[in-house]
Amino acid sequence: MKFNTKTIHGGQEHDKAYGAVMPPIYQTSTYAQSTPGGHKGFEYSRTHNPTRQALEKALASIENGKFGLAFGSGLAAIDAVIKLLEPGDEVVSTNDLYGGSYRLFTSIFKKFGIKFHFIGMENADNIESYINNNTKLIWVETPTNPMMNIIDIKACSEIAKKHNLLLAVDNTFATPYLQQPLDLGADIVMHSATKYLGGHSDVVMGALIVKDQELADKLYFIQNASGAVCGPQDSFLVLRGIKTLHIRMQRHCENGKAIAEYLANHPKVENVYWPGFENHPNHHIAKEQMNGFSGMISFTTKGNNYEEAIKIVENLKIFTLAESLGGVESLAGHPASMTHASIPKEEREKTGVVDSLIRLSVGIEDIDDLINDLRLAIG
Ligand SMILES: *Cc1c(COP(=O)(O)O)cnc(C)c1O
Repeated sequence: MKFNTKTIHGGQEHDKAYGAVMPPIYQTSTYAQSTPGGHKGFEYSRTHNPTRQALEKALASIENGKFGLAFGSGLAAIDAVIKLLEPGDEVVSTNDLYGGSYRLFTSIFKKFGIKFHFIGMENADNIESYINNNTKLIWVETPTNPMMNIIDIKACSEIAKKHNLLLAVDNTFATPYLQQPLDLGADIVMHSATKYLGGHSDVVMGALIVKDQELADKLYFIQNASGAVCGPQDSFLVLRGIKTLHIRMQRHCENGKAIAEYLANHPKVENVYWPGFENHPNHHIAKEQMNGFSGMISFTTKGNNYEEAIKIVENLKIFTLAESLGGVESLAGHPASMTHASIPKEEREKTGVVDSLIRLSVGIEDIDDLINDLRLAIG
């Protein structure tokens, strides 16, 4: 089955009871048993739920994995991965990282004795000097947020294999439509399904996908033992979202390209960060490992004026000023005052998050309306 067919049919079978084409929402916590232990594969919905299981099979299918696990949020999925580790273990992680992942690593897991090294991975050769006998995991996010840096997944997986480490890739920004990390040698793919997989800004959910049975068993154990699962209604919504992932992503990419080019030619715009440009520092890697360049774009304006950036995001009418990304509607954010406000100015500027930086999640509206909105807001 090819990708576009998998998004609709991958891992799915029609409902056995009535032939329902969509898996029913099994809104139940428990399942009747004929005799103690005599059940039909489902005992309690933290452990298994048929709607969640249908989603987990779809997730495994679209990422070319064997096993999918759905969680109550993206962070709950990351939490499960780090619980594979023990005190004294070390992790080498991307430095330009989703802020919530950074907070989870440094404010929760650090105090349980896990050590994190945050490093620039645009050159994968940097990674090896941070590996020692305690290293167990490499954590990669690509493209990164909000600077759209690109990390070479294949190069990371060669390093991980050489040192017998796990490689986990946060694939939230790219989605399996653009990038399939398991095929590039990653062991674990992670998603905030809240974003493109759900795709309609109506649900918070996380996911993990793996190929290896032993690793899957360990993660299923953590999923059930820690209990950060998602409910059947949300599982249904994300399953429905995945069915249009390919056509949504196609339009996100088309609109993203048009807007990146519009911004690059705008006299008031200084820099545009989008991996589709040939002058993006790792464009060659993006071209190699991605099937397109997505609708996530960041840009700065000349003069780097904080108030001017605030005015632009306030003046947008079709782009909504909001956190999050990946929905059908276009969103705009100002990292310096929103997602990165808690990071000291000097620190955030080191990674490129300057005062005038604006991040766009380009939706699937009519491109003329989106460009006109930017034209009026930027002035
Ligand atoms: C949103 C996001 C997360 C966290 O996911 P939640 O569903 O909000 O818990 C992790 N990584 C990336 C790249 C994200 O954008």
